[in-house]
Amino acid sequence: MHRPLRLRLDRAALKHNFRWLEDRAGVPAGAAIKADGYGIGAAETMRAFHEAGCRTFFVSTYAEAEALGPVPDDSALVVLHGVAAEDSEAARQSNARPVLNSVTQVGRWKEIAPDRACDVMIDTGMNRLGLSPDEIGVLDGLSIDTLHSHLACADEDSPMNGRQLSIFREIAAAVPARRYAIANSAGICLGRDYSFDLVRPGLALYGGVPRSEAEGQIRQVARVDAQVVQRRTIHAGESCGYGATFMASAQTEAVIINVGYADGYLRGFSSSGSAFAAEFALPVLGRVSMDLVALGCDASPDLKEGDWVELDYDLPTASEASRLSQYELLTTLGSRFERVWTS
Ligand SMILES: *Cc1c(COP(=O)(O)O)cnc(C)c1O
Repeated sequence: MHRPLRLRLDRAALKHNFRWLEDRAGVPAGAAIKADGYGIGAAETMRAFHEAGCRTFFVSTYAEAEALGPVPDDSALVVLHGVAAEDSEAARQSNARPVLNSVTQVGRWKEIAPDRACDVMIDTGMNRLGLSPDEIGVLDGLSIDTLHSHLACADEDSPMNGRQLSIFREIAAAVPARRYAIANSAGICLGRDYSFDLVRPGLALYGGVPRSEAEGQIRQVARVDAQVVQRRTIHAGESCGYGATFMASAQTEAVIINVGYADGYLRGFSSSGSAFAAEFALPVLGRVSMDLVALGCDASPDLKEGDWVELDYDLPTASEASRLSQYELLTTLGSRFERVWTS
Protein backbone atom coordinates (compact mmCIF):
# COMPACT_ATOMS: atom_id res chain seq x y z
CA MET A 1 0.00 0.00 0.00
CA HIS A 2 1.26 3.47 -0.87
CA ARG A 3 2.23 5.61 2.09
CA PRO A 4 2.33 9.36 1.58
CA LEU A 5 5.10 9.94 4.09
CA ARG A 6 8.54 8.48 4.31
CA LEU A 7 11.37 8.27 6.80
CA ARG A 8 14.71 8.05 4.98
CA LEU A 9 17.29 6.48 7.27
CA ASP A 10 20.99 6.74 6.56
CA ARG A 11 22.97 3.69 7.67
CA ALA A 12 26.31 5.24 6.69
CA ALA A 13 25.53 8.24 8.91
CA LEU A 14 24.83 5.93 11.88
CA LYS A 15 28.20 4.26 11.42
CA HIS A 16 29.99 7.56 10.92
CA ASN A 17 28.48 8.95 14.13
CA PHE A 18 29.41 5.80 16.07
CA ARG A 19 33.01 6.00 14.87
CA TRP A 20 33.30 9.72 15.58
CA LEU A 21 32.07 9.23 19.16
CA GLU A 22 34.40 6.29 19.75
CA ASP A 23 37.39 8.21 18.33
CA ARG A 24 36.55 11.22 20.44
CA ALA A 25 36.27 9.08 23.59
CA GLY A 26 39.37 6.98 22.85
CA VAL A 27 37.67 3.90 24.38
CA PRO A 28 34.99 1.47 23.12
CA ALA A 29 31.43 2.77 22.88
CA GLY A 30 28.30 0.80 23.75
CA ALA A 31 25.22 2.01 21.87
CA ALA A 32 21.99 3.01 23.62
CA ILE A 33 19.29 1.44 21.42
CA LYS A 34 16.47 1.81 23.96
CA ALA A 35 13.08 3.20 22.90
CA ASP A 36 13.38 1.26 19.64
CA GLY A 37 16.71 2.81 18.78
CA TYR A 38 15.45 6.32 19.66
CA GLY A 39 12.58 5.75 17.24
CA ILE A 40 14.86 4.80 14.35
CA GLY A 41 14.61 1.01 14.80
CA ALA A 42 16.47 -1.02 17.44
CA ALA A 43 17.29 -4.11 15.36
CA GLU A 44 18.44 -2.13 12.30
CA THR A 45 20.55 0.30 14.30
CA MET A 46 22.09 -2.56 16.31
CA ARG A 47 23.19 -4.19 13.04
CA ALA A 48 24.69 -0.96 11.72
CA PHE A 49 26.58 -0.21 14.96
CA HIS A 50 27.79 -3.82 15.11
CA GLU A 51 29.22 -3.44 11.61
CA ALA A 52 30.98 -0.31 12.87
CA GLY A 53 32.56 -2.31 15.71
CA CYS A 54 30.07 -1.92 18.56
CA ARG A 55 29.86 -4.89 20.95
CA THR A 56 27.68 -3.57 23.81
CA PHE A 57 24.05 -2.50 23.42
CA PHE A 58 21.76 -0.88 25.98
CA VAL A 59 17.98 -1.23 26.19
CA SER A 60 15.71 -0.04 29.02
CA THR A 61 13.74 -3.14 29.97
CA TYR A 62 13.56 -6.90 29.53
CA ALA A 63 10.50 -6.29 27.34
CA GLU A 64 12.70 -4.24 25.01
CA ALA A 65 15.38 -6.94 25.13
CA GLU A 66 12.84 -9.55 24.07
CA ALA A 67 11.37 -7.35 21.32
CA LEU A 68 14.87 -6.79 19.93
CA GLY A 69 15.41 -10.47 19.14
CA PRO A 70 18.81 -12.10 18.76
CA VAL A 71 21.95 -10.13 19.51
CA PRO A 72 25.23 -11.03 17.72
CA ASP A 73 27.12 -13.83 19.55
CA ASP A 74 30.13 -11.63 20.18
CA SER A 75 28.06 -8.84 21.78
CA ALA A 76 26.42 -8.06 25.12
CA LEU A 77 22.93 -6.73 25.66
CA VAL A 78 22.48 -4.69 28.84
CA VAL A 79 19.16 -3.81 30.49
CA LEU A 80 19.41 -0.33 32.02
CA HIS A 81 16.43 -0.54 34.38
CA GLY A 82 17.64 -3.82 35.89
CA VAL A 83 15.47 -6.65 37.23
CA ALA A 84 12.01 -5.96 38.62
CA ALA A 85 10.32 -8.77 40.57
CA GLU A 86 8.24 -9.55 37.48
CA ASP A 87 11.41 -9.87 35.36
CA SER A 88 12.91 -12.71 37.38
CA GLU A 89 11.96 -15.46 34.95
CA ALA A 90 12.94 -13.41 31.89
CA ALA A 91 16.25 -12.54 33.53
CA ARG A 92 16.97 -16.19 34.29
CA GLN A 93 16.36 -17.21 30.68
CA SER A 94 17.88 -14.21 28.93
CA ASN A 95 21.54 -13.70 28.11
CA ALA A 96 21.05 -9.99 28.71
CA ARG A 97 22.91 -8.47 31.63
CA PRO A 98 20.97 -6.25 34.03
CA VAL A 99 22.20 -2.96 35.43
CA LEU A 100 21.35 -3.33 39.12
CA ASN A 101 20.02 -0.02 40.41
CA SER A 102 18.94 -0.61 44.01
CA VAL A 103 19.71 -2.71 47.05
CA THR A 104 16.52 -4.69 46.32
CA GLN A 105 17.68 -5.43 42.77
CA VAL A 106 21.09 -6.55 44.05
CA GLY A 107 19.39 -8.98 46.44
CA ARG A 108 17.15 -10.27 43.66
CA TRP A 109 20.10 -10.87 41.33
CA LYS A 110 21.98 -12.76 44.05
CA GLU A 111 18.99 -15.14 44.16
CA ILE A 112 18.51 -15.38 40.39
CA ALA A 113 22.07 -15.85 39.17
CA PRO A 114 24.70 -15.22 41.86
CA ASP A 115 27.53 -16.35 39.57
CA ARG A 116 26.55 -14.51 36.40
CA ALA A 117 28.06 -11.14 35.56
CA CYS A 118 25.92 -8.05 36.05
CA ASP A 119 26.33 -4.29 35.75
CA VAL A 120 25.68 -1.82 38.56
CA MET A 121 24.56 1.83 38.49
CA ILE A 122 25.83 4.23 41.15
CA ASP A 123 23.97 7.47 41.77
CA THR A 124 26.52 10.29 41.96
CA GLY A 125 24.05 13.14 42.32
CA MET A 126 21.32 12.88 39.68
CA ASN A 127 18.96 11.09 42.08
CA ARG A 128 17.36 9.06 39.34
CA LEU A 129 18.57 5.45 39.20
CA GLY A 130 21.38 3.78 41.10
CA LEU A 131 22.72 2.80 44.49
CA SER A 132 23.86 5.60 46.76
CA PRO A 133 27.58 5.68 47.54
CA ASP A 134 26.81 4.60 51.11
CA GLU A 135 25.12 1.41 49.87
CA ILE A 136 28.06 -0.11 48.01
CA GLY A 137 28.68 -2.62 50.81
CA VAL A 138 25.91 -4.83 49.36
CA LEU A 139 27.92 -5.29 46.15
CA ASP A 140 30.35 -7.72 47.81
CA GLY A 141 30.23 -11.09 46.10
CA LEU A 142 28.84 -9.82 42.79
CA SER A 143 30.73 -10.33 39.57
CA ILE A 144 30.49 -6.82 38.11
CA ASP A 145 31.19 -6.36 34.43
CA THR A 146 30.62 -2.59 34.22
CA LEU A 147 30.10 -0.13 37.05
CA HIS A 148 28.12 2.86 35.73
CA SER A 149 27.07 6.29 36.75
CA HIS A 150 25.13 8.89 34.75
CA LEU A 151 25.64 12.64 34.35
CA ALA A 152 22.75 15.01 35.04
CA CYS A 153 24.10 18.13 33.27
CA ALA A 154 26.60 16.94 30.66
CA ASP A 155 24.99 19.10 27.96
CA GLU A 156 25.80 22.22 30.00
CA ASP A 157 29.00 23.65 31.44
CA SER A 158 27.88 22.93 34.95
CA PRO A 159 29.99 22.42 38.10
CA MET A 160 27.80 19.35 38.63
CA ASN A 161 29.86 17.49 35.96
CA GLY A 162 33.13 17.74 37.85
CA ARG A 163 31.43 16.92 41.15
CA GLN A 164 29.87 13.75 39.74
CA LEU A 165 33.20 12.82 38.13
CA SER A 166 35.13 13.02 41.38
CA ILE A 167 32.50 11.09 43.33
CA PHE A 168 32.55 8.40 40.63
CA ARG A 169 36.36 8.18 40.77
CA GLU A 170 36.19 7.53 44.49
CA ILE A 171 33.57 4.83 44.06
CA ALA A 172 35.51 3.24 41.20
CA ALA A 173 38.56 2.97 43.44
CA ALA A 174 36.48 1.16 46.07
CA VAL A 175 34.36 -1.19 43.92
CA PRO A 176 36.10 -3.80 41.75
CA ALA A 177 34.64 -4.17 38.26
CA ARG A 178 35.93 -5.12 34.83
CA ARG A 179 35.06 -1.70 33.40
CA TYR A 180 33.80 1.73 34.50
CA ALA A 181 31.52 4.08 32.52
CA ILE A 182 29.86 7.47 33.08
CA ALA A 183 29.59 9.31 29.73
CA ASN A 184 26.53 9.63 27.48
CA SER A 185 26.78 11.55 24.17
CA ALA A 186 27.24 14.91 25.87
CA GLY A 187 29.66 13.38 28.39
CA ILE A 188 31.87 12.22 25.51
CA CYS A 189 32.05 15.84 24.34
CA LEU A 190 33.24 16.93 27.81
CA GLY A 191 36.59 15.24 27.20
CA ARG A 192 38.51 12.06 27.91
CA ASP A 193 38.46 12.55 31.68
CA TYR A 194 34.94 11.18 31.36
CA SER A 195 35.77 8.19 29.13
CA PHE A 196 36.92 5.60 31.70
CA ASP A 197 36.71 2.17 29.92
CA LEU A 198 33.42 2.47 28.03
CA VAL A 199 31.12 5.27 26.89
CA ARG A 200 27.35 5.03 26.35
CA PRO A 201 26.23 7.34 23.53
CA GLY A 202 22.62 7.49 22.38
CA LEU A 203 21.39 10.79 20.95
CA ALA A 204 24.49 11.67 18.91
CA LEU A 205 24.46 8.28 17.21
CA TYR A 206 21.11 9.24 15.71
CA GLY A 207 22.10 12.71 14.54
CA GLY A 208 21.62 14.73 17.72
CA VAL A 209 24.16 17.41 18.57
CA PRO A 210 24.37 17.51 22.39
CA ARG A 211 27.10 20.15 22.71
CA SER A 212 29.02 22.56 20.49
CA GLU A 213 32.06 20.20 20.38
CA ALA A 214 30.00 17.90 18.15
CA GLU A 215 28.82 20.60 15.73
CA GLY A 216 29.80 19.81 12.15
CA GLN A 217 30.88 16.28 13.17
CA ILE A 218 27.58 14.45 13.58
CA ARG A 219 25.59 13.52 10.48
CA GLN A 220 21.81 13.63 10.16
CA VAL A 221 20.37 10.09 10.22
CA ALA A 222 16.60 10.51 9.78
CA ARG A 223 14.97 12.58 7.04
CA VAL A 224 11.23 13.11 6.85
CA ASP A 225 9.56 13.33 3.42
CA ALA A 226 5.87 14.05 2.90
CA GLN A 227 3.75 14.14 -0.23
CA VAL A 228 1.67 17.10 -1.37
CA VAL A 229 -2.07 16.33 -1.13
CA GLN A 230 -3.31 19.58 -2.58
CA ARG A 231 -2.16 22.98 -3.74
CA ARG A 232 -4.16 26.15 -3.25
CA THR A 233 -4.12 29.93 -3.36
CA ILE A 234 -4.83 31.83 -0.16
CA HIS A 235 -6.12 35.30 -0.99
CA ALA A 236 -5.13 38.43 0.88
CA GLY A 237 -7.13 38.68 4.10
CA GLU A 238 -7.90 34.94 4.25
CA SER A 239 -6.61 32.54 6.87
CA CYS A 240 -5.33 28.98 6.82
CA GLY A 241 -5.73 26.10 9.27
CA TYR A 242 -7.22 25.60 12.75
CA GLY A 243 -7.62 28.73 14.81
CA ALA A 244 -7.01 30.83 11.69
CA THR A 245 -3.61 31.68 13.14
CA PHE A 246 -2.09 32.31 9.71
CA MET A 247 -3.54 35.40 7.98
CA ALA A 248 -2.40 36.14 4.45
CA SER A 249 -1.40 39.78 4.13
CA ALA A 250 -0.95 39.24 0.38
CA GLN A 251 -1.99 36.45 -1.99
CA THR A 252 -0.04 33.34 -0.91
CA GLU A 253 0.52 30.06 -2.73
CA ALA A 254 0.35 27.03 -0.42
CA VAL A 255 0.67 23.25 -0.52
CA ILE A 256 -0.95 20.95 2.00
CA ILE A 257 1.26 18.01 2.90
CA ASN A 258 0.59 14.58 4.34
CA VAL A 259 2.14 14.77 7.80
CA GLY A 260 0.92 16.01 11.17
CA TYR A 261 1.20 15.72 14.90
CA ALA A 262 0.00 12.10 14.81
CA ASP A 263 3.29 11.41 13.00
CA GLY A 264 5.36 13.20 15.62
CA TYR A 265 5.49 16.49 13.73
CA LEU A 266 4.12 18.19 16.83
CA ARG A 267 2.31 21.50 17.15
CA GLY A 268 5.51 23.19 18.28
CA PHE A 269 6.29 23.47 14.56
CA SER A 270 3.17 25.63 13.98
CA SER A 271 4.26 28.81 12.14
CA SER A 272 7.91 27.95 12.87
CA GLY A 273 8.87 24.76 11.03
CA SER A 274 10.00 24.59 7.43
CA ALA A 275 10.44 22.20 4.55
CA PHE A 276 12.53 21.99 1.41
CA ALA A 277 11.42 21.57 -2.17
CA ALA A 278 14.72 21.09 -3.98
CA GLU A 279 16.81 24.02 -2.71
CA PHE A 280 13.82 26.20 -1.76
CA ALA A 281 12.79 26.66 1.88
CA LEU A 282 9.03 26.63 2.49
CA PRO A 283 7.59 27.92 5.80
CA VAL A 284 4.89 26.15 7.83
CA LEU A 285 1.76 28.34 7.66
CA GLY A 286 -0.33 28.34 10.84
CA ARG A 287 -1.07 25.35 12.99
CA VAL A 288 0.07 21.80 12.45
CA SER A 289 -3.03 19.54 12.22
CA MET A 290 -3.21 15.88 13.19
CA ASP A 291 -2.49 14.61 9.66
CA LEU A 292 -1.76 17.74 7.63
CA VAL A 293 0.50 20.77 7.44
CA ALA A 294 0.27 23.83 5.17
CA LEU A 295 3.45 25.21 3.62
CA GLY A 296 3.87 28.50 1.81
CA CYS A 297 5.28 27.70 -1.64
CA ASP A 298 5.77 31.12 -3.26
CA ALA A 299 9.46 30.17 -3.44
CA SER A 300 8.67 27.06 -5.47
CA PRO A 301 6.00 28.00 -8.03
CA ASP A 302 6.03 24.65 -9.85
CA LEU A 303 5.25 22.49 -6.82
CA LYS A 304 2.11 20.41 -7.42
CA GLU A 305 -0.11 17.64 -6.07
CA GLY A 306 1.81 14.38 -5.71
CA ASP A 307 5.23 16.02 -5.40
CA TRP A 308 7.34 15.31 -2.31
CA VAL A 309 8.95 17.77 0.07
CA GLU A 310 11.48 17.19 2.85
CA LEU A 311 10.74 18.64 6.27
CA ASP A 312 13.68 20.41 7.87
CA TYR A 313 14.31 17.76 10.52
CA ASP A 314 17.97 18.47 11.14
CA LEU A 315 17.76 17.93 14.89
CA PRO A 316 19.46 21.06 16.28
CA THR A 317 17.56 23.32 13.84
CA ALA A 318 14.23 21.54 14.32
CA SER A 319 14.69 21.62 18.09
CA GLU A 320 15.12 25.37 18.02
CA ALA A 321 12.10 25.83 15.72
CA SER A 322 9.78 23.60 17.75
CA ARG A 323 11.18 24.07 21.27
CA LEU A 324 11.15 20.30 21.60
CA SER A 325 14.30 18.49 22.68
CA GLN A 326 16.28 16.60 20.05
CA TYR A 327 15.40 13.44 22.02
CA GLU A 328 11.67 14.14 21.71
CA LEU A 329 11.98 14.87 18.00
CA LEU A 330 13.42 11.40 17.41
CA THR A 331 11.36 9.30 19.79
CA THR A 332 7.95 10.72 18.82
CA LEU A 333 8.25 9.83 15.13
CA GLY A 334 5.07 7.87 14.41
CA SER A 335 4.24 4.55 12.82
CA ARG A 336 2.68 5.72 9.54
CA PHE A 337 5.98 6.31 7.77
CA GLU A 338 7.34 4.10 5.05
CA ARG A 339 10.85 3.43 6.35
CA VAL A 340 13.51 3.47 3.67
CA TRP A 341 17.09 2.61 4.58
CA THR A 342 19.77 4.12 2.37
CA SER A 343 23.44 3.12 1.98
C1 LIG B 1 19.86 6.79 27.52
C2 LIG B 1 21.10 6.66 28.29
C3 LIG B 1 22.32 6.98 27.71
C4 LIG B 1 22.45 7.65 26.35
O1 LIG B 1 22.28 9.04 26.57
P1 LIG B 1 22.31 10.11 25.39
O2 LIG B 1 22.13 11.40 26.11
O3 LIG B 1 21.18 9.79 24.49
O4 LIG B 1 23.62 9.99 24.72
C5 LIG B 1 23.46 6.72 28.44
N1 LIG B 1 23.40 6.20 29.68
C6 LIG B 1 22.23 5.91 30.29
C7 LIG B 1 22.24 5.36 31.65
C8 LIG B 1 21.05 6.15 29.61
O5 LIG B 1 19.88 5.89 30.22
